[in-house]
Amino acid sequence: MQDKSIIVVGGGFAGIALARKLAFAGKKINITLISDKSYFEYYPAIYRVVTNAAPIEACIPLSDMLPKNVDIIIDKIAKVDANLKSIIGESGMEYKADFLILALGSETSYFNLPGLSDLSFGFKSIGEAMKLKNHIDTLFEEHEHPSSSELVSHFHIIIVGGGPSGVETAGDLSRRLEKLAIKYKVDPSFITIDIIERASRVLPTIDPKASAHALTRLHKLGINVFLNRTLMSEEIEQVYMKDMSLKSKTVIWTAGTQINRLYNSIPGVQLSERKRVSVNEYLEMKGFDGVYVVGDGADTKYTGLAQTANVDGKFVADDILTRINGGGRVAYIPKPVGYIIPIGHNWALMSLGPIRIYGLFAYWARHLADFYYLSFILSPRKLFSLFFEGFKYRS
Ligand SMILES: Cc1cc2nc3c(=O)[nH]c(=O)nc-3n(C[C@H](O)[C@H](O)[C@H](O)COP(=O)(O)OP(=O)(O)OC[C@H]3O[C@@H](n4cnc5c(N)ncnc54)[C@H](O)[C@@H]3O)c2cc1C
Repeated sequence: MQDKSIIVVGGGFAGIALARKLAFAGKKINITLISDKSYFEYYPAIYRVVTNAAPIEACIPLSDMLPKNVDIIIDKIAKVDANLKSIIGESGMEYKADFLILALGSETSYFNLPGLSDLSFGFKSIGEAMKLKNHIDTLFEEHEHPSSSELVSHFHIIIVGGGPSGVETAGDLSRRLEKLAIKYKVDPSFITIDIIERASRVLPTIDPKASAHALTRLHKLGINVFLNRTLMSEEIEQVYMKDMSLKSKTVIWTAGTQINRLYNSIPGVQLSERKRVSVNEYLEMKGFDGVYVVGDGADTKYTGLAQTANVDGKFVADDILTRINGGGRVAYIPKPVGYIIPIGHNWALMSLGPIRIYGLFAYWARHLADFYYLSFILSPRKLFSLFFEGFKYRS
């Protein structure tokens, strides 16, 4: 019997988890992972790159994470034929497999709001995070030049979106800006951080009590929070809401994502009400046997989180192994997720089922969670070198 071939598209949380689980299963299967980048972006740490962590801490070569029996191909897939389980890359190459897994993740959505995509800073890649970091550093390096009336908008940071990314970034930025103010001798009263949130509370997806704690914490850090406010448009150095406008040179957009647009172009794809790909109980695209969608693209209960993508990847690896071995398939069960959201230095909120913890312990639990994840996918030597290089960069 010929060895089965498996193609995983996407080198993110779901793709890596899946390829690793298959690769370590000890079966004779051909595993290929195709990604448009040669590295994995560890999104939960991206906000830290903005505030001076080393890019290397959030950007890990795929070859460091995948065993040798996974073929890695760098190509951006432009076309998917789910009927034939065939995909075509921008390189012109066509790839075919017995099992095709799409782990393409999501992308930033600006909801067609005028000006936002051109003028705001995005938050979905290391490149974007570095651009924002350099911009903020430059604001301080050049602060002698603006007139005193311009100074207020010069150091006015607006973060659109009060979800986890928005509050984490705001919290970390408050400390970073304090340090820059000391370094460049800027009067700290000129520095303002605002969060603009459409819902009636920050972190609207977690329980109201935890979200109230987060709000208190943000206020304590001197961050202004505008609730029930929808951003309408952005012009150069100005953003507009229905009833007010604000001047700022730095607008950070964390408010919207949508599934990777490639999913929408697949002939026969079915999208759910939540605009995600409808999948069956084995995470196969509805109507297509052997074509799976995992991670942010799949319409599952807890989609949109790294934890879920990781679970999805491992689940599909097990399903494929079961099919190859001829066993009885088991249906997917969504795994409840927990949150640890750091807000500034030495403080986080932790929400795990009925448990809520706030403060230093939760903050370190978050660092431990990051370490725990990375220690599974990297060898001790690579892990040590990652932290050592990160330490050197920050120093
Ligand atoms: C700033 C930020 C912070 C976050 N923080 C957290 C957190 O703290 N906790 C949490 O649980 N979740 C967090 N998330 C969400 C989490 O990162 C995502 O849910 C997770 O990355 C989804 O995994 P995925 O495998 O579906 O997609 P991704 O991890 O995005 O991987 C998609 C992969 O597909 C590749 N790709 C895309 N298009 C193509 C193509 N056409 N051809 C080839 N390859 C392609 C991409 O390069 C990428 O490697 C955060 C997200 C962001 C943006």
